[in-house]
Amino acid sequence: MENGAARTAPPVIVAIDGPSGTGKSSTSKAVAAQLGLSYLDTGAQYRAITWWMVTNGIDIDDPTAIAAVAGKPEIVSGTDPAHPTITVDGVDVAGPIRTQEVTSKVSAVSAVPEVRATITELQRTLAAAAPAGIVVEGRDIGTTVLPDADLKIFLTASPEARAARRSGELKGADVHATREALIKRDAADSSRKTSPLAKADDAVEVDTTDLTLAQVIECVVTLVEEKRAAK
Ligand code: C5P
Repeated sequence: MENGAARTAPPVIVAIDGPSGTGKSSTSKAVAAQLGLSYLDTGAQYRAITWWMVTNGIDIDDPTAIAAVAGKPEIVSGTDPAHPTITVDGVDVAGPIRTQEVTSKVSAVSAVPEVRATITELQRTLAAAAPAGIVVEGRDIGTTVLPDADLKIFLTASPEARAARRSGELKGADVHATREALIKRDAADSSRKTSPLAKADDAVEVDTTDLTLAQVIECVVTLVEEKRAAK
């Protein structure tokens, strides 16, 4: 360092993976906000491309048809954790991507290799551009998208806890039906050929079943601060 010039911390890249209902989004957003990092919800990107396929009448059961148009929609993610945004071809789809229809179809669309290649490239570009670093949440971030991340977290929770949280978010949806739908989606996401939901060998596993959200956030913030201090 010359003449005592201020030393800026190098960007820190955090990958948070795990199945649905483990608290990934709430944790990732809060950790990013607390530490001044960017935030990327990669599930929202897969939901956005699924919304586009449905809206444009693409047959979700035909992987060849999906692959042929995978590069067409322009998906733009805003990475401010206080106000994450997602648009497709300029249309704000933050609401429409959370419908039951999109949720039930997203696993089929996200299993198509051409879709994954397109979205993965977007994710790597956004991560590389984040000035202070980024928290990226998803299913394959630590294993495939950002294998050199500074910190990898894998969140888990019992199916009962996950279903209870998700049905709470969906304002009183039937817990049993939610549990069955979650298990079905996880099975599809974990068994697909291209970058399935998986824990990276060097990920820290955090079981959130008996933890409050505040406890999970504190645990991850501490781990990120340790990594930052060691950089
Ligand atoms: O996180 P969320 O439940 O919104 O993710 C929706 C879907 O997007 C998942 O069920 C999965 O099919 C897909 N996904 C993925 N890879 C990621 C993130 C999400 O395949 N990194």
